[in-house]
Amino acid sequence: MSKIVLIGANHAGTAAANTILDHYPDAQVTIFDRNSNISYLGCGTALWIGKQIEDTSGLFYCSAETFKAKKAKVLMEAQINNIDFDQKIVNAVDKDGNDVSQEYDKLILATGSLPIMPRITGIDLANIFCVKLYQDAIKINECLLDENIKRVAIMGAGYIGVEIAEAVQRRGKEALLFDIEDRSLASYYDEWFTKDMDENLAKNGVQLHLGEKIVEFKGDAKVNSVVTDKGEYNVDMVILAIGFRPNNELGKDSLELFSNGAYKVNKRQETSKKDVYAIGDCATVYSNALQATSYIALATNAVRSGVVAAHNVCGTELESNGVQGSNGISIYGYNMVSTGLTEKAASLAGFEVLSTQFEDLQKPAFIKNNHKVKIKIVYCAKTRRILGAQIASFEEISMAIHMFSLAIEQKVTIDSLKLLDIFFLPHFNQPYNYITMAALTAK
Ligand SMILES: Cc1cc2nc3c(=O)[nH]c(=O)nc-3n(C[C@H](O)[C@H](O)[C@H](O)COP(=O)(O)OP(=O)(O)OC[C@H]3O[C@@H](n4cnc5c(N)ncnc54)[C@H](O)[C@@H]3O)c2cc1C
Repeated sequence: MSKIVLIGANHAGTAAANTILDHYPDAQVTIFDRNSNISYLGCGTALWIGKQIEDTSGLFYCSAETFKAKKAKVLMEAQINNIDFDQKIVNAVDKDGNDVSQEYDKLILATGSLPIMPRITGIDLANIFCVKLYQDAIKINECLLDENIKRVAIMGAGYIGVEIAEAVQRRGKEALLFDIEDRSLASYYDEWFTKDMDENLAKNGVQLHLGEKIVEFKGDAKVNSVVTDKGEYNVDMVILAIGFRPNNELGKDSLELFSNGAYKVNKRQETSKKDVYAIGDCATVYSNALQATSYIALATNAVRSGVVAAHNVCGTELESNGVQGSNGISIYGYNMVSTGLTEKAASLAGFEVLSTQFEDLQKPAFIKNNHKVKIKIVYCAKTRRILGAQIASFEEISMAIHMFSLAIEQKVTIDSLKLLDIFFLPHFNQPYNYITMAALTAK
């Protein structure tokens, strides 16, 4: 029986553990996690902070007890401090402060990512929070309960910062959203889309400070202002959302790393060292849009990589399909979804890029309850291969993006979409579907 050690039991680790325990009952699995909880859905933080859901109980889908019931050995609040990759032993300190060593035949690293902390003066002041763990959500919520907290700065207008800004505003506080980029969601959407999101945020009361760099936090013990390259703003609280870095602490000196420090893995999730696998936010992904190794930290990728690693570890060969980085966001009812590369990202990656875009009502004009939809498809000018797509509307349009995800994975060209069989029913869409129209009008 193979001894399998898993370090980290959040989304990636939980998927790996459940796959092994459900499919390979003879495996001896030991799971370590330094946290006291697992499987917290961070996507629920903003919904809970903004009081769009009542409590956090539904935000967990697994527990240490689930693994124990499936005969795994589980050590929670146990921090792995080092790994002897030659002797195949991991060394931990358990909950009670005891040293624990565990041998392995196969090791899965699922140590995830850590919030990037800006190295600026005042970062250690009280009432400055990051957003990652359940514990962070609790602290942010407690702080917002204080009536003296009236103005909150959110640093970073990526998807987490934008969601938290909405949540803070919904709590009746002033939300000031800062980003060095001159638009929100700049990594996921081109300007045609982000200008609508910026308008949507501003219309609903979020104060936008885009194209503005925070350089200092000021205060006595507690933060009381943020200083930017354009001014100084009194605030009572700061929420940091400037991104995540792979947590490579345990293997950074022994394993091959990607440019951002993530463990470099192949499509079987194998690292550069035999019998050592890495999954989730601590590892690279294969981007089908780029046709190259990349880094995209998402729970969806984490879960799939956990399943792939689990089967390979247990002797069933399985390769990842690669990923497109499909993502979505819904702010004050405005829905945006994207997959693959934006036009800007594709250009930066060296593609000769073309794009086609189209805007129309979702349903025929005779249907009253109806909103506009925007679509943009990005493709390679030389090969015509689809590289990315973005769709936005107050309508529920999210499912359409999955087709583009598959198209990118399968290297479909823009021309294949022109006469694709797309159904029509006025309850759902128009006879000249916006996907067809965007494809037909492509250069
Ligand atoms: C606010 C927020 C909202 C998000 N929303 C979405 C969303 O809507 N959709 C989406 O797809 N993704 C979303 N994400 C991203 C998603 O949460 C991450 O991609 C996902 O958590 C990655 O899972 P992971 O298991 O690889 O890593 P992590 O979640 O980082 O887990 C790593 C685990 O390893 C443990 N660990 C680390 N080091 C050690 C050690 N030395 N010893 C023992 N244990 C250790 C940690 O305690 C932790 O439990 C969101 C993230 C946040 C923060």
